[in-house]
Amino acid sequence: MMKNLQLKKRLPKDVFSVVRKIGTLAEESGFFAYIVGGFVRDLLLGVKNLDLDIVIERDALDVARLLRKKIDFQLKTHKRFGTATIILPSGFKMDIATSRREHYAYPAALPAVCPSSIRDDLFRRDFTINALAIKLNQGNFGQLLDLFDGCRDLKKGLVRVLHDKSFIDDPTRILRAVRFEQRYDFTIEEHTKKLIDGARRAGMLKQLSRFRIGDELILILKEEDPLRCLLRLNKLCGLDFIHPSIKLGRGISAGFKRAKKYISLSDEALDGWLVYFMLLTCPLDAKQIRGLCRDFSLTKSCQQRLEYFKKNASGALKELKGKAALSNHRIYEVLQPFSCEGVLGLTALTESRTTEKRIRLFLKKLTRIKTALQGKDLERIGLEPGPKYRQILKKVLYEKLDGKLKNKREELKYAKWLSAS
Ligand code: ATP
Repeated sequence: MMKNLQLKKRLPKDVFSVVRKIGTLAEESGFFAYIVGGFVRDLLLGVKNLDLDIVIERDALDVARLLRKKIDFQLKTHKRFGTATIILPSGFKMDIATSRREHYAYPAALPAVCPSSIRDDLFRRDFTINALAIKLNQGNFGQLLDLFDGCRDLKKGLVRVLHDKSFIDDPTRILRAVRFEQRYDFTIEEHTKKLIDGARRAGMLKQLSRFRIGDELILILKEEDPLRCLLRLNKLCGLDFIHPSIKLGRGISAGFKRAKKYISLSDEALDGWLVYFMLLTCPLDAKQIRGLCRDFSLTKSCQQRLEYFKKNASGALKELKGKAALSNHRIYEVLQPFSCEGVLGLTALTESRTTEKRIRLFLKKLTRIKTALQGKDLERIGLEPGPKYRQILKKVLYEKLDGKLKNKREELKYAKWLSAS
């Protein structure tokens, strides 16, 4: 008896309605449709996952367009990959792809793909736990398709490849194996571990493009506990392939633990992974960091945040650690130019209680203080608009941070005095 996954109970109503319609369309038009990959894995594990991948044994773009005639959603097509993304009014996303087979022209290359059966499509995947599918066709709707014992491995908590050439074809799977193992508290199955070791000895990670290493590293840094993943990766194959200067010493491990705490406490919208990246790249010089940003195709904004951190972190920490009294406005002046990630990076780097207290004061209190005074108030007192406005408002803010201005009247009085002097 096939296992039925009771999709109706487990999917949001709007999502259920779409997958139901895909099933009906598939049956009417004579093709097969499936939900595949991470969503199925997480559904079986009872983990929330809002990214649904659908694979059909037919042209995905055609089917997505057909579906659009029946249901209202936003459609993004990716012609180059022959895939489409459906975005429901609730924001839920589903990717639709044609089932395909992969061929690697040489080890670690990007694969050439061609349409194929669902079996081939599942066989090209990384691990048995990610090669599960759910049938959507009417009659079989909601039934699990488990061709490679993924369910058994989910139960046993094992990360297992589908074939022995897996890490040779695509060494990024080594990073993925570690990521899934650590995320779910699983174990990399013994034979799979031997294959990782074989791929390491064959130097496969060095053959990977830097860009792909960057992508997978960032995914690791986005995990709940990236340190665990990095420690495991380090043990399995070292971290030289990321950069020879990156080492996981005791200092960096302690930094990661502090960063994890501060990221979880932060109420700012921030790129948590970048905080870890800042810590990891501490031993690199500015030129090497720039090289890494280029290799990993990081955005300009990421690069700027990283470079500012590299250039200014040690100076800032030195000043904040000092025994001498520091005015609020000086603390603000030192920390304000850092990105949110940079400020958290500083907290993670320091073991000084004084520094930590000063950073906390900055985050919890100083960043919330604003002047009541605005440009239009300066205009009202007859000040010619220009760059002077910014300077005056900055000085007013600094006085206010130091507790010397109690209300708008006092701010205005101080601004008048500044403009006259
Ligand atoms: P996550 O929860 O981290 O998003 P996921 O399983 O959804 O995990 P994706 O990177 O979104 O991971 O990939 C979707 C699916 O595509 C995977 O479940 C897996 O079946 C397949 N896949 C992704 N990357 C690879 C790879 N490098 N080699 C083989 N299969 C892959």
